[in-house]
Amino acid sequence: KNAIEIRGLKKVYGGKKGGGKLALKGIDLDIPQGSMFGLLGPNGAGKSTTINILAGLVNKTEGSAKIWGFDIDDNPRNARANIGIVPQELTFDAFFTPREMLEVQAGMYGVKPEERRTEELLKAVHLFDKADAYSRTLSGGMKRRLLIAKAMVHNPPILVLDEPTAGVDIELRQMLWEYVRELHARGTTIVLTTHYLEEAEELCDTIAIINHGDVVACEPTEQLLKRI
Ligand code: ADP
Ligand code: ADP
Repeated sequence: KNAIEIRGLKKVYGGKKGGGKLALKGIDLDIPQGSMFGLLGPNGAGKSTTINILAGLVNKTEGSAKIWGFDIDDNPRNARANIGIVPQELTFDAFFTPREMLEVQAGMYGVKPEERRTEELLKAVHLFDKADAYSRTLSGGMKRRLLIAKAMVHNPPILVLDEPTAGVDIELRQMLWEYVRELHARGTTIVLTTHYLEEAEELCDTIAIINHGDVVACEPTEQLLKRI
């Protein structure tokens, strides 16, 4: 079964008056349940656009996408309930603390107070000591870990990370990898975008290569590495 199914997905930015930017040319993509899936490609290839459409942050131009079997247009609530997205940008409300942000996020996803896992999540991403610090005082690495915790408040079966280790030092990269592996080992389907081949090679069992808005390859990592 597929965790994510994308069909003929097309995106033109700012094309209402013609002359728009064609960012996705109508891609098909199947991401199997339980996989650790890498979406690899150079800057500008269309990775973030794909993720942002799944996240409901960007409107598609044509095509369809299903998350855990739920169409993002016909059944947005169920689609949303089954996915957690870690965006690329580290944007936060500076006057909130990690604990507050996780509580607000849980509220938005309709997680009942008695079912919230705020303390567990803070510990899992090693932010327990910073639970009540204002987010403007957090380092870049702490912010990235907080974004992962935020994406997991509703315990989704799919976690998508957009360039999780871009601009991150080696130590933090190792730590993030370890945490992502842990989540995968517990059954979470992981999708990550990256422009580092080494990162996809290290983590992913399957890799799709995206270039100029097209999926140009999609196969098991070992098989792909033999060809390139
Ligand atoms: P990266 O490849 O590192 O994601 P981008 O070139 O895609 O960097 O730019 C980052 C963000 O800037 C994108 O997520 C997008 O929202 C915005 N952006 C990129 N290109 C344009 C553009 N031509 N016009 C408006 N916004 C853009
Ligand atoms: P990637 O994540 O692979 O770096 P993106 O999906 O961010 O690629 O971008 C794909 C293409 O769409 C790029 O040419 C980028 O400049 C363009 N783009 C991205 N966001 C916007 C935007 N908001 N407005 C206009 N063009 C954009």
